[in-house]
Amino acid sequence: MTQPARIDARTPLAAVQGVGPRSVERLAHLGLRTAGDLVRHLPIRHERRLAERGIAEIAGEVGDETIHVRLRGEIARVKARPGPRAMVEATLDDGTGTVRLVWFNAGWMRGKLHPGDRGVAEGRARMRLGYLEIANPRWTSGEPVETAPGQDDLRPIYPASEEIGSAEIEGLVGKVLEPVCATMEDPLPESYRAQRDLVPLAQAWRDMHRPSGREALERARQRLAMDELLLLQLGVMMRRSQLRSRTRAVPLPLDATVDAHIRGRMPFTLTAEQDRVVAELAQDLSREGAMNRLLQGDVGSGKTAVAAYAMLLAVSRGHQAALVAPTELLAEQHHRVLQAMLAGSQVQLRLLTGSCGTAERDAITAGLARGGVDIVVGTHAVLEGGVAFRSLAVAVIDEQHRFGVRQRAAIRQKGQGERPLVPHTLVMTATPIPRTLAITLYGDLDLSTLRGRPPGRQPVVTRVVGSEKAPEVYAYLRGRIDQGEQAYVVVPVVEESSTGLKDVAQHARHLAEGPFAGVSIETVHGRLDREAREAAMDRFRSGDARVLVATTVIEVGVDVPNASLMVVEHADRFGLAQLHQLRGRVGRGTGRSLCVFIGDPVTPDASERLEAIGGSDDGFEIAERDLRLRGPGEVFGSRQSGLAPFRVADLSRDADLLRLARADAEAWIARDPELSSPESALLRRKLLATHGAALGLGDVG
Ligand code: ADP
Ligand code: MG
Repeated sequence: MTQPARIDARTPLAAVQGVGPRSVERLAHLGLRTAGDLVRHLPIRHERRLAERGIAEIAGEVGDETIHVRLRGEIARVKARPGPRAMVEATLDDGTGTVRLVWFNAGWMRGKLHPGDRGVAEGRARMRLGYLEIANPRWTSGEPVETAPGQDDLRPIYPASEEIGSAEIEGLVGKVLEPVCATMEDPLPESYRAQRDLVPLAQAWRDMHRPSGREALERARQRLAMDELLLLQLGVMMRRSQLRSRTRAVPLPLDATVDAHIRGRMPFTLTAEQDRVVAELAQDLSREGAMNRLLQGDVGSGKTAVAAYAMLLAVSRGHQAALVAPTELLAEQHHRVLQAMLAGSQVQLRLLTGSCGTAERDAITAGLARGGVDIVVGTHAVLEGGVAFRSLAVAVIDEQHRFGVRQRAAIRQKGQGERPLVPHTLVMTATPIPRTLAITLYGDLDLSTLRGRPPGRQPVVTRVVGSEKAPEVYAYLRGRIDQGEQAYVVVPVVEESSTGLKDVAQHARHLAEGPFAGVSIETVHGRLDREAREAAMDRFRSGDARVLVATTVIEVGVDVPNASLMVVEHADRFGLAQLHQLRGRVGRGTGRSLCVFIGDPVTPDASERLEAIGGSDDGFEIAERDLRLRGPGEVFGSRQSGLAPFRVADLSRDADLLRLARADAEAWIARDPELSSPESALLRRKLLATHGAALGLGDVG
């Protein structure tokens, strides 16, 4: 017999002794091809497994769990129910107590058991009606010598398929776990492990499969979670450090004259919160290191003014600024706000979107290249497309949650030279991001948070009702519209669809012919061209139109203070964050606002979303709840973020670990910016392989 080859993580399962061709095939269907794949196929949970002992003692330990047990004794009674759904029931007695053994659909068991037989029953036991019971146990008659386990442990339950069950996977894992772990290298230096009390990597993998107890399992889980969190944090910190050391930005110092000048252009006095954030920005902007800051603030918290401040600072120092929005509608909105601020000034402001004609577009891009244009507002697609600036000093990206790390990198100018000049970048998001997610997704950015709302705002009154209440809702709104208020009505689809959902045109007609007869109604959706959209928005903004029926295009940025009423139809179809964004369109004036969500939720999740939106007006609280409801992958999909998903780390549970990972990564990169020390070598290799591309980590060796 030949000596079996050494098994490591890369060994194909087909080459592992004891793994037959049929198993190889079944495992392949689960995506498992190598020994390492199998070791990384982690149990979804573990069940307690007790070493063999007396029945009475076991019964005392079971509680309301299901526990894997092994019991030895004598059959006291047997009862068999005949028929197609044959059931065999027996009582096993070991002198200390009894256990009920039940086999369902088990005609084959009949006649095999007799009172007085001795043997061992093994299986999952639980208490039922006060008695210990094992359903479908494995029965070995006679007096088998004790096999495993010699002591209590936890039995892994694996994600299985129809072809291959958990127990079979457990057996196969047993064939590769030891050899794979034995050849495993630990990327975390021993000194660091000792400092953070982390178990060695090999032990963590062993214990994830076969822990000696819950504590060992949790320590193993924490170790692997820490690896994931630390690796990502090292990545974002390395990226941040590279951006700082390899690029530079135009320093934009602030003085009292410029400050007064900028404030003089604002239509209002900045709030204390806005002042605080402006000061944070001004600090960054005054330096040669490029600003990389995320500004998060709830809908309506007044982020635009903060961004405008930074842009005007750039212009006052003779440089250019760009504001990037995710939709044309929002770009147009920003353009209007800045236009009003800059009325009568020398500052050249332009709007550049997909709707611009060729001539207009050419003129604007030429102006940006020569310096004739000072500020450009545009959509992402347009400004990413290689627009050249004479001297872009500040770039603002609004509503960042729609873009990931990759897109953020794209807006940065690809300058030339040893340390190319890049703009100071401000990223804004209106979806408050739970801190844990902000750190993971935007860890390379500094964070500013704008709290509260501008003065004079009253909270929006929120109601959640079923669709049978719609006539009442519209009748009530009609009364308030007649008193001078304006209303948004949001529906899920643009055009008539077979889904039975309300669409813009039809619903507008329904309202015009019914509850809102005689009221002037406008419609807006994503398929309108710019002219039609602007015309509709202008009519609504000016108050000529009292009602705006729209799709969720109005979700971001639209700001019409007199519009104080909102109805969202089919609200059960929208995500929680989206509902909150929509509601953010009202409550922008000083009047009393009302938002009514109409929906007939059919799933528990939908009910919970509606309950959450009805119960809170705080974007941070809603974001946390959204994270719990949908999980981080959904909220900020890893596809969207471009980052590899976590296998073990769980952001809603590992917040403490994440904080630790962040602090450690920061210190680590400060000490060893490129992870070039010998003790970091393994870690660096793993980091580049896992996140190098997504984070755009420059060549580090
Ligand atoms: P968001 O943070 O959602 O982008 P905006 O910047 O659109 O919020 O501001 C919301 C509303 O509050 C706008 O109508 C804006 O004009 C107003 N606003 C912002 N700052 C102030 C302030 N300091 N005083 C009064 N109104 C303000
Ligand atoms: Mg905004």
